[in-house]
Amino acid sequence: MSMNHVRPWRNISRRNSRQIMVGNVPVGGDAPISVQTMTNTDTSDAKATIEQVQRAAVAGADIVRVSTPDEASTRALREIVAESPVPIVADIHFHYKRAIEAAEAGAACLRINPGNIGDAKRVSEVVRAAKDHGCSIRIGVNAGSLERHLLEKYGEPCPEAMVESALEHVKLLQDNDFHEFKISAKASDVFLAAAAYQALAEATDAPIHLGITEAGGFVSGTVKSAIGLGNLLWSGIGDTIRVSLSADPVEEVKVGYEILKSLGLRHRGVTIISCPSCARQGFDVIKTVSALEERLAHVTTSMSLSIIGCVVNGPGEALMTDIGFTGGGKDAGMVYLAGKQSHKMSNERMIDHIVELVEAKAAEIEAAKDAAE
Ligand code: SF4
Repeated sequence: MSMNHVRPWRNISRRNSRQIMVGNVPVGGDAPISVQTMTNTDTSDAKATIEQVQRAAVAGADIVRVSTPDEASTRALREIVAESPVPIVADIHFHYKRAIEAAEAGAACLRINPGNIGDAKRVSEVVRAAKDHGCSIRIGVNAGSLERHLLEKYGEPCPEAMVESALEHVKLLQDNDFHEFKISAKASDVFLAAAAYQALAEATDAPIHLGITEAGGFVSGTVKSAIGLGNLLWSGIGDTIRVSLSADPVEEVKVGYEILKSLGLRHRGVTIISCPSCARQGFDVIKTVSALEERLAHVTTSMSLSIIGCVVNGPGEALMTDIGFTGGGKDAGMVYLAGKQSHKMSNERMIDHIVELVEAKAAEIEAAKDAAE
């Protein structure tokens, strides 16, 4: 990310990881931190899965994972990959044959732990398939499914056991001269996950896939992920993220993006800054913001918009946003452009007006980008 010399307290210095490719998406190094999600359709139902992948991609997913537990899923994968606008990761658990089929079907990455698929011959067959088909691999350590010998050694899932597990899987890949891998060390407990990721970041230069597993429902999972992932990302750890929620994958993507946006690590779409509202508000802030969120969801150009109920905080916030609206008296408020007071607008017309202003600003930014290329 670019360093902010004016506001150095905003800088995040990312850990130096090496870069791998997941299809056409770079992961690690100086690549943007990518956002992933996972489908929850039956993968063998290619049509439903493609539809979900496409919705996730529209919401901003850079990479989508599908689980491939059986032959019917790996068969459907070919069609899913062909129709997907983003690289597809095939989630394999124990069946090395599914991994080979998934690689042949065009998966960009295999999520597989080589230590779980049997003898060395099977591992080398999977690695051969990955190499032949340009697949990367994600080693996915999970506190809930650590190997028995590590649980016996450490007594319970702990950061040391998780890192040791990851390094054992890494060794199997390296023994096969395979280096296109990234690693995750997930746990549902934020303390355990954060400590495991910190230790992993020290132990390897592989790109790191962050996630708090089984984080929970929409609200609790969002909070848990924001704390766990936010803390790690802030300290520079993490090259790709997945927020796990018991919710629609599109929501996972939105939350993932919001976490990255709030740390200035990615920029996409309109960031709305709005006040909680109170009796001073000059218009209905809550209704307005939810209407604007819906009507501006299609805008992918990065910009900021402040929607503030009154002059207590309105002018100050408007100073730091591209477009601003501050409530006032007499059923009208003030529009700010590039931090400067511009013109009055009635509360009644304000939503349509703000949408027009944002769309025009987005077109202007995109045209300037095109001209600069
Ligand atoms: S900005 Fe005004 S309306 Fe909004 S919460 Fe603060 S005092 Fe209330």
